[in-house]
Amino acid sequence: MDKKNMVKKSSRRSALPLSRECLKRLSPYLPGFSLEEAQRLGKSRLSPVKLASNENPLGTSPLAKAAVEKTLAQIYLYPESGAPLLRQKIARKCGLTPHNVFLGNGSDEVVYLLAEAYFERSAEVLVAEPTFSTYRHVSILAGADVKTVPLKDQTVDLEAMLKAVTKKTKMIFLCNPNNPTGTFFTDKQLRLFLNKLPRGILVVLDEAYSEYADSPYFPDGLKYVREGFPVIILRTFSKIYGLAGLRVGYGIAPAPVIAAMESVRLPFNVNRLGQAAALAALGDDKHLRRSRQNNLVGKRFLYRQLKKMGLAYTPTQANFIMIHLGKPAQPIFGKMLEEGVIIRPLDSFGLSDFIRITIGTPSQNQRLIKALKKVI
Ligand SMILES: *Cc1c(COP(=O)(O)O)cnc(C)c1O
Repeated sequence: MDKKNMVKKSSRRSALPLSRECLKRLSPYLPGFSLEEAQRLGKSRLSPVKLASNENPLGTSPLAKAAVEKTLAQIYLYPESGAPLLRQKIARKCGLTPHNVFLGNGSDEVVYLLAEAYFERSAEVLVAEPTFSTYRHVSILAGADVKTVPLKDQTVDLEAMLKAVTKKTKMIFLCNPNNPTGTFFTDKQLRLFLNKLPRGILVVLDEAYSEYADSPYFPDGLKYVREGFPVIILRTFSKIYGLAGLRVGYGIAPAPVIAAMESVRLPFNVNRLGQAAALAALGDDKHLRRSRQNNLVGKRFLYRQLKKMGLAYTPTQANFIMIHLGKPAQPIFGKMLEEGVIIRPLDSFGLSDFIRITIGTPSQNQRLIKALKKVI
């Protein structure tokens, strides 16, 4: 490019409007390394295994796949707005009405729309730290002030959350089990917390992994919606239902919360294939049971192996395990990639010596352990 043109281009650029001030405090979401990226690198002779994003290692329910195939002929048509059939089916399962159900383009979008629907400038939001990064992200974007409450014993600290509440607090994000730790708070703790909470605050209870929980003390958040507490439960088809690629998640809440979100969502936020697949997946209890069982068996195997290796891990209620390496995780991540195993280093969560691994199939778990032994 000649000099004159360069000058022209830079002066054109300065004609751009400035983006919003709050973007300076945000960085784009850092996802787990994808299977496609690993394949392009192609360092391992074996095909890569992805244990970085907590997808279902058994894949999608066969019923959901069949529903997608059947729906392919209709993808030239817009999807039904508001996903009425799915809404109805979820409502029935939960013992609530369709007015209590909101479908989103992944539960990520539900979180985003909650912030859009509720935050004005000077609204305050409480989030645990570390936890799923989307809560903070969407809150800042919507102009709210984010207050972080550190975990206690690697667990969301409900008492500290209560203490952090001020007159401006509008929403509290709770992830149970918490991502990336896998820890949980009990039903008793949750009830105590909700009973003590001042009025005018919405509690967002993200239960993306609750289907995997096996503790008898793990709460079922839906009960609190049915009892009329100011709570929204978030669930997703991305994890145990094996539909992460189609982007379907939902919120269950008192009707006025759902109505607020309905007025901010875009018309066709959940696509036709996603609606059909999710509907079918809900009817596949067999796949759900198998997935849960695989996770339980894999969890026990990994606990045993990690113990043998002398690696500290945090007991989990989810389909992932956080492991304390005691040394920087980034180099280990790189070496594991060379072995064809994608794991999640937790630097982006502020935990530079930790990794998070998804519990896989028995053979994936064996590969993970073999590679970890080689690399550490
Ligand atoms: C994976 C995950 C979700 C689900 O996100 P989708 O947008 O539904 O795919 C939500 N919350 C947490 C904590 C998660 O880990």
